Amino acid sequence: MSAEIGFRLLKVGHCSHPECIAQRGGRFAAVPFPALACLLIHPRHGPMLFDTGYSDAFFTATKRFPEHLYRLVTPVSLNPGESLATQLGLHGFTPDDIKHLFVSHLHADHIAGIGDYPRAKIFVMRAEVEAMRRASRIGGLRRGYLRMLLPDRFDMTLTYVDDCPRVVLPDSMRPFRYGFDLLGDGSLTGVPLPGHTAGQLGLLFKTTEARTVFLVADACWSLDALRRDRAPTWIASQLFADKREYLSTFAGLRQVLARQESLMMVPSHCESTWKQLSDETR
Ligand SMILES: [Zn+2]
Repeated sequence: MSAEIGFRLLKVGHCSHPECIAQRGGRFAAVPFPALACLLIHPRHGPMLFDTGYSDAFFTATKRFPEHLYRLVTPVSLNPGESLATQLGLHGFTPDDIKHLFVSHLHADHIAGIGDYPRAKIFVMRAEVEAMRRASRIGGLRRGYLRMLLPDRFDMTLTYVDDCPRVVLPDSMRPFRYGFDLLGDGSLTGVPLPGHTAGQLGLLFKTTEARTVFLVADACWSLDALRRDRAPTWIASQLFADKREYLSTFAGLRQVLARQESLMMVPSHCESTWKQLSDETR
């Protein structure tokens, strides 16, 4: 049997947007979108991260124009005590303890802290890295990429998820049919969730509490919107790499959620998921 993984959900800053942009039929009022990262504790590999949320590097990277526009369009807060390094400390770890960092996609709100883990192998889908590299400074910015967040050693620490062994997913995960065995022991499966960006990655694993967790990043922004079939609006979808692919991934998640009531599906910016799980996974 494959290893089970300790799971802690962490909020590393938030931004705010009118809800009606993020989901059809939403309110006009600005609502908080937490930037969630996950601390995963593997029995052999120790502490690992899925995404990093915001960090001080985000504010440095967006000090000057044109990158400053990102901050104007998306007001971001990172309260004292919310930094990922501080939160890791509360769990008894330092940034140097992190040897594996799994990146859902390269948007700034998911990788702002990517430079803070000097000993981590960084796992990303190949299509995602290529999309960021292809984009110009302005084109990348329009798509949510801030290339200067990547550390100089990025290429040396990069592992393409696509190079990990390919595995067939159980029928309960249909229409998602295959994933990648990220650690080679069956404990952590990367699941491609394309559309939001070219190479978005979800993670599927069993926890030490015998729950099955599916981290779905930005494939949907709230579980409530997913349950009600409220996809993001036209304005928000302008950010997406491929709108049709986004909708097909979104519809796929609806099927998976409807089929598996006990599944813990975790979007990266869902306030109600954060409220529910922050205590449960403390
Ligand atoms: Zn995001």
